[in-house]
Amino acid sequence: MKQSRIAAGLETSLTRQLFNRAKELDNVIDLTLGDPDLTPSQAIRDAAKRAVQEGKTHYSVNAGLARAREAIADCFREETGIAADPASEIMLTIGGMGALYLSLAAVVDPGDEVIVIGPYYVNYVQMVRMLGGTPVIVWTDPKDGFRIDPAKVEAAVTGKTAALVLNSPCNPTGQVIDGQTLDALAEIACRHDLGVISDEVYKTLLFDGAVYESILTRPGMRERTILIDSMSKRFSMTGYRCGFAVGPAEKIEAMTKMQENTASCTPLPSQYAAIEAYTTCRGEHWIRDAFESRRNVLWNAVQDIPGFSCLKPAATFYLFPNIAGSGMNSLDFALRLLEEEHVAVVPGVTYGEPYGGYVRIAFTKQEAVLLEAAGRLRRFMEKVTREAEKA
Ligand code: PLP
Repeated sequence: MKQSRIAAGLETSLTRQLFNRAKELDNVIDLTLGDPDLTPSQAIRDAAKRAVQEGKTHYSVNAGLARAREAIADCFREETGIAADPASEIMLTIGGMGALYLSLAAVVDPGDEVIVIGPYYVNYVQMVRMLGGTPVIVWTDPKDGFRIDPAKVEAAVTGKTAALVLNSPCNPTGQVIDGQTLDALAEIACRHDLGVISDEVYKTLLFDGAVYESILTRPGMRERTILIDSMSKRFSMTGYRCGFAVGPAEKIEAMTKMQENTASCTPLPSQYAAIEAYTTCRGEHWIRDAFESRRNVLWNAVQDIPGFSCLKPAATFYLFPNIAGSGMNSLDFALRLLEEEHVAVVPGVTYGEPYGGYVRIAFTKQEAVLLEAAGRLRRFMEKVTREAEKA
């Protein structure tokens, strides 16, 4: 059968390659995927189970149950001060990924450019390509704490730019966009009439009292922003495949039509679980607390590893250390670490060419496992830095 050019052009992600090899080895500590080992609160699990047992297993309207959208709207208003109409400005999707793809599909025509900040969540780039668009990357510099330079974003705007994708808190750096940068980016978006896709799926996993702000709160942004959120990280509901988008009514209407033509709706038991999550569980912070504690444990354990340096993540569940002291590029590093120490991490080059001296470590496992991983990493780094010095 013929293969489309778009399908042929898609690359298998390095994360998947590492993940697949990790499956073939024994006693591997797999810190690749952003999929925590925590199960959702009992009330959420019960709600999903109840829905299945009561036969609430049919299709729903394409945008999702009204009660689910209302619960999300309530929570959203409480947390951001923004009132979004649950009937027209919110829709449930198949995870945050579904919301991302539909939002890009609602904005991007073939030939359009989309500005993406690097290091980036690789799916942004692939999704833009799947839509026939061109990703234009604005790189951030580790020396500046991966801060976005708004002047560089503005310099990347052309007559073909349809949208800017933002991700705060950021996978893989764990950094949060500060208020001043948000002001500047919002002004640029308004000045050049850009759409903004704001991926905020990690917004509740904030550490050390870090404050989170959405670009949606900035003047002129309501009509040009599609906000992406998800239950995956906040409630540890990755496999429920439940996310949502908040945006202008005409964009949500277009995205709902596209969802009708692709997936129909979010699985119904997951929607009932989402109602429970956003009503009775929204004030819980045990998941955030668990990740802050894990971050501290791992962070302390890697501090004096030779050839290894890292910015402290203010959010998310990722460490993005520089491993250039190993004398290896990130892919060779990750492959050798897996073969020799059975620890799986993601090569930094996955997040863009300039980050070939980095790896991403997901602290999605218990603290004792993270300590064991840090010990193996230390042994490995001691060995490879000695080799690098001799060479
Ligand atoms: N956005 C970012 C930055 C992510 O890291 C992820 C998952 O890893 C997602 C969106 C999508 O998550 P989900 O589709 O499970 O909601």
